[in-house]
Amino acid sequence: MPTALICGGGVAGLSSALHLKQEGWTVQIFESDSELRTAGVGLNIWPNGVRVIHGLGLGEEFRSFAAEMERWWALDSDGTLTSDIDVSHWPEELGAPITGARRRRLNAMLAAALDPNEIEFNTTAVGYAQTDENVTVHFEDGRSAVGDVLLGADGIGSRIRNAMLGHVPRFTDEGIVRWRGVFETARAGVPADVQADVYGAEGHFGWIPIDSTHAYWYGSIGGLSTFDEFRGVYDTWVNTPVPQIIANSEPDSIIGREIGHYREHLRQWVDGRVALIGDAAHPMYPGMAQGANQALIDGQTLARLLTAHGDVRVALAVFEQERIPVANKMVDYSRLHFDYERTRKEYRSGQGNLQINRYLEFES
Ligand SMILES: Cc1cc2nc3c(=O)[nH]c(=O)nc-3n(C[C@H](O)[C@H](O)[C@H](O)COP(=O)(O)OP(=O)(O)OC[C@H]3O[C@@H](n4cnc5c(N)ncnc54)[C@H](O)[C@@H]3O)c2cc1C
Repeated sequence: MPTALICGGGVAGLSSALHLKQEGWTVQIFESDSELRTAGVGLNIWPNGVRVIHGLGLGEEFRSFAAEMERWWALDSDGTLTSDIDVSHWPEELGAPITGARRRRLNAMLAAALDPNEIEFNTTAVGYAQTDENVTVHFEDGRSAVGDVLLGADGIGSRIRNAMLGHVPRFTDEGIVRWRGVFETARAGVPADVQADVYGAEGHFGWIPIDSTHAYWYGSIGGLSTFDEFRGVYDTWVNTPVPQIIANSEPDSIIGREIGHYREHLRQWVDGRVALIGDAAHPMYPGMAQGANQALIDGQTLARLLTAHGDVRVALAVFEQERIPVANKMVDYSRLHFDYERTRKEYRSGQGNLQINRYLEFES
């Protein structure tokens, strides 16, 4: 059986391992941390991602812990509802709902479908070498492993990507702190099946249900801020649920992190038997909430192509050709939707929910 070496135990690494196993591959994941990643609170998983989860035979389990959206609101900071989109018919139209889930639950579900000895923790990949017959991944502790294909699923700071490109791409801090937290929907007086965005002169705030009783919120004031500065602004949006949401946050759940990013698209994802997937290939602003969804699609596509093409190198070259234009278009939209000044104008101009419209372009 051919062997896939996978660096990174996030959504991309875990889901690609499951897809490859379905296609008869032996898989080995190498994860630098001592446990699965739990940071990041919640994820919007759209129909394109949920369909991939269904394809892994995990649809029912996912439904047991994820929240399914019925509607998506947009409000002005004065409380005016500017857009109210019914998304309850998406399962019939698109084959799956738009959902929210806790990242750790999603990762735990994917990992549980693997054999425990298929994930090796505390193992950091630093580089690779390849021949016509195989590929070797090298680890920080001096060890190495040999296989038929190597996947760099090691996230935004990917060492496999750096080794492939021969340099570290230029990273830019955006000068924007994004604050996040988790709250009980009933306590804040908001429905558990509606996600929402609120736009004001000072910034953008949104929330997404992540199970039947909780949602996570995120927001920024368009620059660096302490939590007190951030809250000082949002506590004035008294005609919206925002002050209640922040007041009802689970104290330990509140975190603020400066958003950083790569300004340029990666033009290369593949080198012979080595491919980048997930954030290692297409690091994405949170604007479209699509990073994990695109990571799920990467794994599915890759497994399909490795089965369709006998030669690993041909399959990976086709993967790169097929996925780069789609994923990079999503990266562009994500960047656009991270710019709240621009999206605020769009929502106010009565054009509806352009995040949904842009997503639907990928469904046609
Ligand atoms: C604030 C925020 C909100 C977001 N919201 C959404 C959302 O709602 N919906 C959505 O779809 N996406 C969202 N995303 C994007 C999403 O989190 C990422 O796109 C997704 O996690 C990418 O998965 P990945 O497996 O490629 O990378 P990661 O999840 O980063 O996993 C990479 C793994 O590789 C490991 N690793 C790193 N280096 C090495 C190494 N050298 N060797 C071995 N292992 C290594 C890491 O420890 C980690 O476990 C959001 C991102 C942010 C920052």
